[in-house]
Amino acid sequence: MIVTLVVLAAVAGLILVGAVAWREHRHFVVAESNRRRDDELRRRQEGKVVEDETRLRLSLDAISQGVVIADPAGTVLYRNPFALPYTEARHGEALVEAAVSELLAEAVQGKAVEREVELFGPPRQTLFVSALPLRLDGRDYGSVALIDDITEPQRLDAMRRDFVANISHELRTPMGALSLLAETLVGETEPEVASRLAARVQAEAIRLSDIMDDLLELSRIESNEASERAPVSVQHVISDALSRVSPIAEEKQVPIETALPALDLVVNADRRQLTSAVYNLLENAVKHSEADRLVRVTTRLEGDCVEVEVSDQGHGIPLRHQERIFERFYQVDRSRESTEGGVGLGLAIVRHVANNHGGEVRVESAEGEGSSFTLALLVGAQA
Ligand code: ADP
Repeated sequence: MIVTLVVLAAVAGLILVGAVAWREHRHFVVAESNRRRDDELRRRQEGKVVEDETRLRLSLDAISQGVVIADPAGTVLYRNPFALPYTEARHGEALVEAAVSELLAEAVQGKAVEREVELFGPPRQTLFVSALPLRLDGRDYGSVALIDDITEPQRLDAMRRDFVANISHELRTPMGALSLLAETLVGETEPEVASRLAARVQAEAIRLSDIMDDLLELSRIESNEASERAPVSVQHVISDALSRVSPIAEEKQVPIETALPALDLVVNADRRQLTSAVYNLLENAVKHSEADRLVRVTTRLEGDCVEVEVSDQGHGIPLRHQERIFERFYQVDRSRESTEGGVGLGLAIVRHVANNHGGEVRVESAEGEGSSFTLALLVGAQA
């Protein structure tokens, strides 16, 4: 009996120990599997964070604007490729870097700040640096600075402003003259004087309409709008331009001679644009020549190009102006030009026509000896 009790107690003890061990083992297994699951979750989360970070970093790298991120202490944590060159030790770059550091430090205080930085180059550049605080739910994460190169937008803006100012100036002169002449004409009783005044009114009106024509022509050619390409005979273009310029040439008694090759050259071009370019070169040659000074138009095939050269024996163009005469509204001598009727758009038209046709326009000139303008168009554009 006693033995039986002892055996039973031992078995019960064994069962208890086994049960405890089993329970502990189960706890262990559950804990282990939970740990594994947590690890896996963490790994996945970490992987996702890394993935998100990489995606964000690549996006920032792709921005064509400088991005510099700093922690609340002002230490730079990230700089995208656009912002990298400004860390170089050269003077201009150091100016940008200094502006970035100062603005980052100011932005950490909680306000958005900005500044323009001029780099005198070369190349001359204007940069717009701005910085913002990085804050969320009252927590401070530092600040971000953005660098924008505003050189080109500023240049375009200045050009637009110049353009409007130039047009207003050019229109104001004939408009002023017109209103003055009309006012005088109203009170004039002498028929002879009245008719002289009317002739001047007409001349000013023609000048005004010439300016408008030039402006419209330039804007049409600049936008290359409604441009039509077709095989065009260079000879036809020259004869069209000659017939347009001949009244002015006759009035000024400037003879024009043409030297054309035996074989007519044909280019694939916009005939109207090409005629306008050759006309402007011819008109300039006549305008800047004294009576009996010969103007010559020569056409030739030169390597890959068809060249139309218009040369004169006029007063020539000083070297320092030769680079700029192709700019819109650029005039060498405004006082002389205002009596000749130009507003500085003719050569801008020629240059645009050349560009539109994949060609170029060149000038050679010597003061007191004359000028020679060459319009070169690629033979590749030939039909
Ligand atoms: P505009 O329409 O007023 O003639 P352009 O753009 O055609 O202006 O020419 C610009 C400047 O270049 C003119 O102010 C003129 O002084 C100069 N120029 C152009 N062609 C000649 C030339 N053949 N001889 C001398 N000067 C010229």
